[in-house]
Amino acid sequence: MSSLFEKVQKQKTKFIFVTGGVCSSIGKGVLISSLGVLLKNSGYSISVAKWDPYLNVDPGTMSPLVHGEVFVTEDGAETDLDLGHYERVLGVYLTRDSSVSSGQIYQEILDNERKGKFLGRCIQVVPHVVDAIKNRLFNFALKEKTDFILIEIGGTVGDMEGLPFFEAIRQMKMEFGRHKLMHCHLSYVPLLPWTGETKTKPTQHSVVALKTAGLTPDALFLRSEKKISENAMKKLAMMCEVDRDLIFQVLTFKPSWQLFFALQDQKVNERIQEWFGVRKIKKANLNKWLKLLDIIKDSKKGIKIALIAKYVGSNDPYISIVQAIKTAGYHYKKDVEIVVIEAEGLEKTGYNGTSASWKQLKSVDGIVIPGGFDARGVKGKIFAARYAREKKIPFLGLCLGMQIMLIEFARDVLKLKGASSTEFDKDTKYPVISLLEEQKGVKKKGGTMRLGAYPCTVLPKTLAYKAYKKDLVKERHRHRYEFNNKFKDVFEKKGIVFSGIYKAKNLVEIAEIKNHPFMVGSQFHPEFKSYPLTSHPLFDLFMKAVINKK
Ligand code: GLN
Repeated sequence: MSSLFEKVQKQKTKFIFVTGGVCSSIGKGVLISSLGVLLKNSGYSISVAKWDPYLNVDPGTMSPLVHGEVFVTEDGAETDLDLGHYERVLGVYLTRDSSVSSGQIYQEILDNERKGKFLGRCIQVVPHVVDAIKNRLFNFALKEKTDFILIEIGGTVGDMEGLPFFEAIRQMKMEFGRHKLMHCHLSYVPLLPWTGETKTKPTQHSVVALKTAGLTPDALFLRSEKKISENAMKKLAMMCEVDRDLIFQVLTFKPSWQLFFALQDQKVNERIQEWFGVRKIKKANLNKWLKLLDIIKDSKKGIKIALIAKYVGSNDPYISIVQAIKTAGYHYKKDVEIVVIEAEGLEKTGYNGTSASWKQLKSVDGIVIPGGFDARGVKGKIFAARYAREKKIPFLGLCLGMQIMLIEFARDVLKLKGASSTEFDKDTKYPVISLLEEQKGVKKKGGTMRLGAYPCTVLPKTLAYKAYKKDLVKERHRHRYEFNNKFKDVFEKKGIVFSGIYKAKNLVEIAEIKNHPFMVGSQFHPEFKSYPLTSHPLFDLFMKAVINKK
């Protein structure tokens, strides 16, 4: 046994693994964050990790349409959106150590192979890949030193890529024994619309698939649309070899915070503590969340915010922004409706046109332009920024959104014809957004942007200051291009205030337009630091402006 293992064994940390069965998108992230909330609010310290079996090194280079939003941690890791759920709900900062993929594991092993560390030996999935996975977790545990670590295994049992991760769990179960580790399996129980019945057979099959990998789950969580009968639960206990007491139901809730209470009612918290042999079982205090649910219940409809999107169909590419807007709304007891408008739809009929997208835009009370890459939809976004400026509609531009706001201002107010970002027009005469020298030679795609938290000095007597009420804040970045300081003077002369600056490099972090109720853009992504229990200052002031205007 490795000395790492021995150190972890002596440490108090206990591990809870969550695997998924039947199909993806059944809410492992939501389940893990709910278990985390119950344990944390019972007084335990917790940390969270996500193991993604895919071969990409990180999701930074994956399409948001396929994989959802790329969430950025304080230390600049580009991670899965589930880490965003965990941070928001658990109020913790995670780091790159929380995000592990097969790609990283293989990269590490192959780097070592090239360095000659395996000389003479044949590298195999067992033991080398599995050991590398376990060592990642052991090092993480030694660093975090928390009471519990919750680990989500991405994908679905039966996926080939997942096997080394399942093998790692199997081995740890043998090595650590029962009181150190618990394996929870979340599975889907479909409801047949033609008979009105819920069906447990797919779950039984997914447990068979787990058993093929050498794992019998310790607890089952059943995601379903309808309550599952006691008979069916007993049958599952028998067929899957899981104690009836450790089978729980996960119904669909909106907002998902209600799941904390549903799990609490089923005594999940107590059962987990019993599993680990805790003698004095602690109860979770969920008062803060109860209050939030009451506020949500009391919140009134009537406010509409446009999100000018490149990707339409699912909200996953913008999940942190959607959450940040909703949270700011609830702070003012408003149940905000988010109208996702396809940026390209604003292009077809020209500025202030008649397309369905323009009809949508004309009906909203506030406009948000999210981050994004490449030229698709940029023209429509510029139209939306112009509309917000001219009609004095509260506007919040996030990363690309700030760049768009400044490009629009340059073209329309400063009359710099064809002003652009060199991202969209390499040869523009007026590169108001451009690459820093240090980015110019960068060819590699993964992890090479300005990533993670940077300090931003906030200028007094600005909207930004009114929002933050602080001289110095730290916000997270994920971009390559920056405002070009050569144009600073002309912008300032015509009414732009650069209200946030990254002093060390003199980079614009926040820009705002004078004589407008609220037109603010940030080069960073404030949405990554908005929490359901505390709305983010920029989103909050934006929402206040929206409500005042209405
Ligand atoms: N594409 C822009 C850049 O790289 C904006 C990125 C973003 O919005 N996250 O600077």
